[in-house]
Amino acid sequence: MRYASLGSGSKGNATLVESEKSCVMIDCGFNHKQTLLRLERLGKGPEDITAICLTHEHGDHIAGVRLFSKRYGTPVYMTSGTANALEDVQTQVLIQAGDSLHFGELEIISVAVSHDAAEPCQYVIKEGSKRLGLLTDIGYACDAVLDAYQGCDALILEANYDDEQLENGYYPESVKARIAGERGHLSNEQSLALIKALEFENVHALSIAHVSEKNNHQETIKSLFRQHFGSQVEQMDFVCQQEGMIWRTLT
Ligand SMILES: [Zn+2]
Ligand SMILES: [Zn+2]
Repeated sequence: MRYASLGSGSKGNATLVESEKSCVMIDCGFNHKQTLLRLERLGKGPEDITAICLTHEHGDHIAGVRLFSKRYGTPVYMTSGTANALEDVQTQVLIQAGDSLHFGELEIISVAVSHDAAEPCQYVIKEGSKRLGLLTDIGYACDAVLDAYQGCDALILEANYDDEQLENGYYPESVKARIAGERGHLSNEQSLALIKALEFENVHALSIAHVSEKNNHQETIKSLFRQHFGSQVEQMDFVCQQEGMIWRTLT
């Protein structure tokens, strides 16, 4: 399998996962024009997308999904909570957390997460014995999430904010509390703790995503993660808001 990102952050998210016969887009959080431009950048057209799997209804994950699915008839998989919050996606297919979806050789497993949306989930993607975990927009990882992501060979993991930068930033207190709360986002510290809990050691297959442009910096994340990965930290990927991430192969 290989995977790539159209971009990640509070202004839009979409991830591609591809095997020989199928290419699935997880979230469609850019407007239609940007989605097409960013797909093209990765050598893909809209007709190549087998299906879209949504994580939740926040704008940075669904901004382009209505028009995209309407224009190309792409099936859009989502939980019923997401569907109710979203409305008006004609090609929706309802799923439940824990479901396994099959697209060619890809198996995509939905995992319920704690986030301030109606019924949010994230996904673990399998091909043969290889597993990729996508995990952003989560306030904290409960035991069920740890179980679901244990043994992943690659991770696209949120490190949203630095505690100090969030605390000292200009966001209203209510927004700060939401971000840092149990239904918000993972801080850098929480993200590193999760990596340790998962015993994830493959720094080459670690992609850091959904990094706040206001309350975080790549260098802040690197200096914290250096405590765990040492100088190897330079090998980890950052999924940028603007550039996304080019294809990575998991074999
Ligand atoms: Zn988000
Ligand atoms: Zn969200």
